[in-house]
Amino acid sequence: MIKLSLPHLAGREKEYVDNAVESTWIVPLGPYVDEFERRLDAYLSSGNAVALSAGTAAIHLGLVMAGVKPGDEVICQSLTFSASCNPIVYQGARPVFVDSELSTWNLDPDVLETAILDRRKVTGKLPAAIVPVHLYGMPAAMDMVMAIAGRYGIPVVEDAAEALGSEFDGRKCGTFGQYGALSFNGNKIITTSGGGALICRNGEDAARVRFLATQARENRPYYYHETIGYNYRLSNVSAAIGCAQIEELPERVERRRAIHDLYKNGLADVDGIHVHDNPSSRERSNFWLTTILIDPERISMTPDEIRVALMERGIETRLLWRPMNMQPVFRDAPYYSSDKIFADDKGKKISGVGEWLFNRGLCLPSGSALTDEDVMTVIAVLKEITAG
Ligand SMILES: *Cc1c(COP(=O)(O)O)cnc(C)c1O
Repeated sequence: MIKLSLPHLAGREKEYVDNAVESTWIVPLGPYVDEFERRLDAYLSSGNAVALSAGTAAIHLGLVMAGVKPGDEVICQSLTFSASCNPIVYQGARPVFVDSELSTWNLDPDVLETAILDRRKVTGKLPAAIVPVHLYGMPAAMDMVMAIAGRYGIPVVEDAAEALGSEFDGRKCGTFGQYGALSFNGNKIITTSGGGALICRNGEDAARVRFLATQARENRPYYYHETIGYNYRLSNVSAAIGCAQIEELPERVERRRAIHDLYKNGLADVDGIHVHDNPSSRERSNFWLTTILIDPERISMTPDEIRVALMERGIETRLLWRPMNMQPVFRDAPYYSSDKIFADDKGKKISGVGEWLFNRGLCLPSGSALTDEDVMTVIAVLKEITAG
């Protein structure tokens, strides 16, 4: 079976975990947590990382730090995984979804500004935060997103869960917003088995996040609380795995990029398959997952039919994230569509760029442990299946 994105061991995980066990640091916090944070800071070369129990927890604390309160609205990219926006609801706030641009598949800056102005008109106040996402590792248009957010004084919580190692204008994703969330879930570019981090802009914010993530316990000899806290810190054992994983991070990112190149070259001559690529020299995706678009004019199978056919041949692929404006649980949330795409290929009205991409897209096996041969197999089988 060729899987979508499996954990890839770096080599020293067992040694570090054994150390953690022998030192009896089997608790949240500990020396490996501190070391993992130092290594993240060094890799990102800006910001202060706080290691947490999940990427979802990181987004949640980013929103708490941004001051999101019950009754607020928060703008979130619609084409994403539900973990980008569930924490908005945890805060008692209301998500407002914004469509994507065709070039990066991420937050469309024009629609973002339209949505901000319209929400101010409808509710009398500005959204409390903006959550852009770097989908599949592709950087969002962070220059424009930050400029628009800055114009209205709205904090940005960047969902960089899929984009560790990606760069926009030479700067690492996760370091643009007031807060940036990373994920180290098992399928991500590096893993701590489960974990995440919130990147803060300064040590003061990071200290506040650490305080909130460890039950908001005030510095007194007894347990004393002035604030609602969370149990969101990363365990020392998980961080031991993370310390081993991060030693190989630059190689892992290069390997995912090399896999993307193999797909790009191998599928270049296939009419009707388009490999999603960096739209300009400003974006440098980590290509966490290589994604393709299937042109229904040229290929008679839907992405899901292709997925099933590949599965029968032992190859795991995945449809794109189904946009949040198409999820029953968010049916009452406001949604702002791009005017770039009004209809699908048969002329049927659709909800925008996100739905158009969802109808055509497929994620290919992209784990850094895949061999060139594995990737060549996927290319060959994909060509065979879609040739009909
Ligand atoms: C994985 C992911 C998350 C959540 O991270 P967890 O560590 O699984 O909680 C959030 N947003 C996006 C876009 C993701 O892919």
